[in-house]
Amino acid sequence: MASNDTRLRAAIVGSGIAGLAAARILREQHDVTVYERGEPSVATGGQGIANFPNSTHILETMGFDYSRAGSVELAGWNSVDRHGKYLDNIDYSMRERYGAPLVSHMRVDFRTELLRLATAPAGNLGLDASAAPATMVWNNGAIDLDAESGRITLEDGSVVEADVVIVADGIHSRLRNKILSEPVSAQKTGLTCCRVAVSAERVEQALGKLPQWWQDQREKGQGYMHLIEALDGTSRFMVAYPLRNLTWMNMAWVFQTRKERGSTTESWHADGNKDEILEVYDDFGDDLKTMLRVADQVKLWELQDLEPLPTWTSGRAILIGDAAHAMTPLQGQGSNMAIEDADGLRLLTQPGVTRDSVPEILKTVESVRRPRATKVLMNTRSTSKISSAADRYAKFDENCTYPGILGALKQQATAS
Ligand SMILES: Cc1cc2nc3c(=O)[nH]c(=O)nc-3n(C[C@H](O)[C@H](O)[C@H](O)COP(=O)(O)OP(=O)(O)OC[C@H]3O[C@@H](n4cnc5c(N)ncnc54)[C@H](O)[C@@H]3O)c2cc1C
Repeated sequence: MASNDTRLRAAIVGSGIAGLAAARILREQHDVTVYERGEPSVATGGQGIANFPNSTHILETMGFDYSRAGSVELAGWNSVDRHGKYLDNIDYSMRERYGAPLVSHMRVDFRTELLRLATAPAGNLGLDASAAPATMVWNNGAIDLDAESGRITLEDGSVVEADVVIVADGIHSRLRNKILSEPVSAQKTGLTCCRVAVSAERVEQALGKLPQWWQDQREKGQGYMHLIEALDGTSRFMVAYPLRNLTWMNMAWVFQTRKERGSTTESWHADGNKDEILEVYDDFGDDLKTMLRVADQVKLWELQDLEPLPTWTSGRAILIGDAAHAMTPLQGQGSNMAIEDADGLRLLTQPGVTRDSVPEILKTVESVRRPRATKVLMNTRSTSKISSAADRYAKFDENCTYPGILGALKQQATAS
């Protein structure tokens, strides 16, 4: 390829949230190939995911279709004690405050919509005809990377070369240590999260009707975060929010880790044991425990995060998503950071970008994204220590007002 050619070969390693969002951005200008070690259905699960205005603002510019994803806009939160007594009921429109909504969706639906944005014909997305769909390569993960040349070795032994390599292979990234000079891996935080999603149909069969707090949301046609705290000095709490147009409920039960689980160090999750969780939450309301009992799939996550990395880039490769900054879900910001990272790659779609300019541009992306993700990681670490509503709102303001990479660079230029 000539060094002044402005259409680059972009290779993305990993088809999770970060990889697919990056593919959607980069296809506007470049030829994109995504290499995924798993099947097309990889990294999906029945559980939910919430996106805050800092990412929904970006998703909307990508053409994300909330109706296809069955997304539910969350209009505030209810706070309840473990016996079901309401402590707080707060209407808080993030759309009004930050110009974009807080939404929740089934993880599989969210990923399916991102895959559509990466691979649908340009015309279906209102993109210029030159924005070719990303090529997806399944069941062939990356096992090695030479960041200077952009050469990637795949599991089947083949070697591919790209002008820019986006490393989006998740929290237990295999390629991260090809970019860093010292190896780094994720650390457990001492908290475990049990995630289930349960359908309204199942719950109605088991309880005869929906719990009032779910029924209220259906009647209003509006979702809420429903927080239930033990308030007894233990760190036990449960967060529930609706999915698929309020026909499903996501429940996340968080508690102090009880015993080591070898398999969760290999991936985010392992199969959970309902009886063990029910024992931990024995003193919570019967309806909640029944909802857990009738849920299909119980997954346990021993929550982990990464220390802030000293760099994200080397040569023509950059880390994004959990590979760069895994954080616990205590603020629900992990996938939001992945979307912000993908937006950062817009710098590669600006006029005049060439193969030669890639390393310099990646450094500029990092100069905005690394401090930003570090700040949100630190906010997440201190979340369990939040004691007042004022702290919570201050963190929302900090997290949700990110102006995107172009806005952030403008702010930097104005400040200097
Ligand atoms: C319990 C829990 C709840 C969460 N809730 C929220 C929430 O509500 N809101 C939120 O914003 N975030 C949430 N998060 C965080 C969020 O899930 C992650 O931040 C997000 O999935 C990161 O996306 P990613 O694309 O970087 O990584 P992943 O989603 O992990 O994707 C990585 C992809 O790379 C592939 N891969 C791995 N190695 C290779 C290889 N060598 N070659 C090729 N492919 C490879 C994997 O198969 C996978 O498809 C939660 C996390 C947990 C654990």
